[in-house]
Amino acid sequence: MHTNLYKTEHLLFRETFKTFLSKEIIPFYDQWEKEEIIPKEVWKKMGQNGYLCPWVEKEYGGAGLGLEFSFIINEEMAYAGVYGLMAGLHSDIVAPYIHTFGNDEQKKKWLPGCISGDIILAVAMTEPDAGSDLSSIRTTAVREGENYIINGEKIYISNGILSNLIVVACKTETGNRSPYKDVSLICVEDGSPGFSRGRNLKKTGWHSQDTGELIFRDCLIPVSNLLGEEGKGFYYMMEKLQQERLVSAIMSQASAEATYQMTIDYYKQRKDLKQAEIPTDANGIAEMATDIEIGRTFLNSLIYDHINGEDIIKKVSMAKWWTSDMANRVISQCMELYRDYGYLEDYKVGRFFRDARAHPIYAGTNEIMKRIIGRKLGI
Ligand SMILES: Cc1cc2nc3c(=O)[nH]c(=O)nc-3n(C[C@H](O)[C@H](O)[C@H](O)COP(=O)(O)OP(=O)(O)OC[C@H]3O[C@@H](n4cnc5c(N)ncnc54)[C@H](O)[C@@H]3O)c2cc1C
Repeated sequence: MHTNLYKTEHLLFRETFKTFLSKEIIPFYDQWEKEEIIPKEVWKKMGQNGYLCPWVEKEYGGAGLGLEFSFIINEEMAYAGVYGLMAGLHSDIVAPYIHTFGNDEQKKKWLPGCISGDIILAVAMTEPDAGSDLSSIRTTAVREGENYIINGEKIYISNGILSNLIVVACKTETGNRSPYKDVSLICVEDGSPGFSRGRNLKKTGWHSQDTGELIFRDCLIPVSNLLGEEGKGFYYMMEKLQQERLVSAIMSQASAEATYQMTIDYYKQRKDLKQAEIPTDANGIAEMATDIEIGRTFLNSLIYDHINGEDIIKKVSMAKWWTSDMANRVISQCMELYRDYGYLEDYKVGRFFRDARAHPIYAGTNEIMKRIIGRKLGI
């Protein structure tokens, strides 16, 4: 069980990052939400300050810090409600595919750019007809000599417009073996022949996050861009989705905590303005405080277990669905405390409300999380 997850060096790092956020991100964020994109230079600023992939070893240009530093970045960005800049997706969800399954040449080629912010990463699994069931993807990669020819479409891809290196799940064998053994992960670089982008999708929330469509028409990619072994992609995704779910839980928990805190501050101040006090408010606040306390305790123990290399599949599935449900419950309750003001764009609570709705969907839907837990329980 964790007691001291974060030590002095983590607290100092957190404070420095908060200062960076307050200077370089937060003042401009409303504008980026309107523009529905984050300027690429902001990624470079993140990189220049050591806030992208800080866990990567020094030999590839990283700072060689523990994963917990990256999790602090995720947490602080969620506290600030700046989801549009998907640093967590880049550093802790996609870069690990390259780091774990890439060969030394691929790591030397791509990781330094991921750390500096010159490369922005995305992972493309979902297709118009394949979401939860990743074995049913239809994008094909057929080998011809020293190239793969990729054909297919991907949708709902975070960083889909800005990314210049995309880990794409493709079928390298079509139905010749088990569908789970047909999938391979191939890195597609911006400018590859036959690769183009579709719409930047208009979403309920996460407005500044570019969630895009990717199109592959006889897209020519060198075989040297294959990550790991051909046919192992499905298993690689199952391995790396665990950390994705942890990052999702970290963001959900932090968004609940941030919204709760800002609401309590507002609520106390409004009482001074002689707002009618409704007796059930106090019970609602007590419920939220309890939810948040339980979530934080569970999450910190999970982060500790993950950092220490334990198998977290069952618990991270629990954390992913529970914290995202909890965040939606808490943030909805917070809006009630704002009364009608909560529905106005003038108050940040509305943005937290619509942004939180994404968490039960991506990284494996909450229903899928419950199926995994059931299987782990032998049901
Ligand atoms: C904001 C956002 C960002 C995203 N970013 C990315 C990204 O970067 N890369 C990427 O590849 N994808 C991304 N996605 C896609 C996301 O991963 C999928 O939406 C998700 O996997 C669910 O797939 P689906 O929407 O096709 O739903 P489906 O799989 O069609 O499911 C529909 C419904 O059925 C339920 N369901 C499905 N199968 C089962 C089952 N076996 N048992 C019980 N219930 C089931 C689901 O819970 C869901 O409610 C993103 C999505 C969103 C909304």
